[in-house]
Amino acid sequence: MNIEQIYKDSNAYLEGHFKLSSGYHSKYYLQSAKVLEDPKTAKILASALAKQITDAGIHIDAICSPALGGIISGYALAEQLGVRFIFAERVNTKMTIRRGFEVKQNEKFLICEDIITTGGSALEAANEIEKNGGQVVAYAALANRGFCTRRNSKLQRQKNCKLPLDKPLFALEDFVFDIYEPSNCPLCKEGKSQAYKPGSKNN
Ligand code: ZN
Repeated sequence: MNIEQIYKDSNAYLEGHFKLSSGYHSKYYLQSAKVLEDPKTAKILASALAKQITDAGIHIDAICSPALGGIISGYALAEQLGVRFIFAERVNTKMTIRRGFEVKQNEKFLICEDIITTGGSALEAANEIEKNGGQVVAYAALANRGFCTRRNSKLQRQKNCKLPLDKPLFALEDFVFDIYEPSNCPLCKEGKSQAYKPGSKNN
């Protein structure tokens, strides 16, 4: 399966001047919502991801995704693995589990994102699960931006990866492209454009 081609075919692999959720700037942006707009594609991707997890012998009871980005991929993956699905969301910048979602004592969770960049939001969701008595056993995403190391990839973990070393990350593909501190962004220095975050405001 050529994941990069699927992203390109769905107009989900954008070129421009972008502001990522992690705060960094980049010339490229993966808009996973566009890939997941077709439920058939979502199912194909989730099923490939589910296979990696079952092949690795990882048992989970439930999936939790950080809102909003991870919700569709997490839900689609939960459907494939036959487990329940909840999400965590930010309330005044703090990741929180609301809406009556329960975490049972020692329940085994996988945290699912659409894309893992540094893994910051995924880690915050994981901390919430563990604070509520659950146990996080693995992470998953459709795409890995190459800062963290996923299973079956030789990419070296970068120092800005926030995910714990002792939990596996499953992802379908590595998408490696440069990201810049806003103060050191060549696209900003060019002065022709301002970074924007796709999916926000009118974008
Ligand atoms: Zn910039």
